[in-house]
Amino acid sequence: MIQIDLSGQVAVVTGGSSGIGFATARLFLQAGASVAICGRDGERLRSAQASLADEYPHAQLLAVRCDVLDAEQTNAFASQVMQRFCRVDMLVNNAGQGRVSTFADTTDDAWRDELELKYFSIIRPTRAFLPMLNDAPSPAIVCVNSLLALQPEPHMVATSSARAGVLSLVKSLATELAPQRIRVNSILIGIVESGQWKRRYQNYLNENADNPAPQSWAQWTGEIARKKNIPLGRFGLPEEAAQALFYLATPLSSYTTGSHIDVSGGFARHV
Ligand code: NDP
Repeated sequence: MIQIDLSGQVAVVTGGSSGIGFATARLFLQAGASVAICGRDGERLRSAQASLADEYPHAQLLAVRCDVLDAEQTNAFASQVMQRFCRVDMLVNNAGQGRVSTFADTTDDAWRDELELKYFSIIRPTRAFLPMLNDAPSPAIVCVNSLLALQPEPHMVATSSARAGVLSLVKSLATELAPQRIRVNSILIGIVESGQWKRRYQNYLNENADNPAPQSWAQWTGEIARKKNIPLGRFGLPEEAAQALFYLATPLSSYTTGSHIDVSGGFARHV
């Protein structure tokens, strides 16, 4: 197993209070980095912080309430990170969620909200942390994107469309920031078990409250994976997405920029 020592380095993970972001924060802590996470919900953030501190009692961990769509809050988050750690080496733009809607049922406001979420959840933190990344010895930005960018689905029309734009944004950022030695990459994920899928399963349970034998989580996710013809036959785990993010954030991928890694269990139909 390749081991990498990140002690002395600082990683920022937006949306680090749940799912993929939380798993990524764990990996950075495991490798010895100091970590800053953010999220909007204070309770979720506190519980994530407590569970990480439990696992890594000597870890340098900062958890800040921040909506990455709010410029002021994002700048304040960056200032707190700077105050506490005095540097940032790696930024993982992960915060967000998908929107299930077809063209017929996506209003103008819904389109604007979705485009704002997908673009500005990258633009705002990137802008806020750029001065610190500029001073780091081997800085990297990694964005969580979706396979929908290349393989749109009609029931997620706005998300798919925004995801395609994000692919372009990542490539442009990589080119513009290369002279500053800042690498910018993304991962394209298929379906990963995480907070948003747990909430969808809870909705299924609520809708099937009268059913004496509703599907278990394993049955419910297995059926979705089968219906979607995911070759590996299951959802991905947050840790599996986190490992790809970790690779792209660290010097393990020192000659890679403007690129993406597919983490979809073979779900991509293109070669
Ligand atoms: P989770 O719901 O488990 O985690 C999302 C995290 O983002 C939470 O910490 C949430 O905290 C935070 N967050 C959401 N919006 C904001 C915001 N505006 N500002 C700050 N924090 C925010 O979901 P996942 O781990 O699945 O999602 C991680 C990323 O992966 C998202 O961008 C999602 O769109 C993407 N993705 C996930 C897929 C999947 O199958 N799981 C598929 C394709 C893409 P809080 O709500 O408290 O703010």
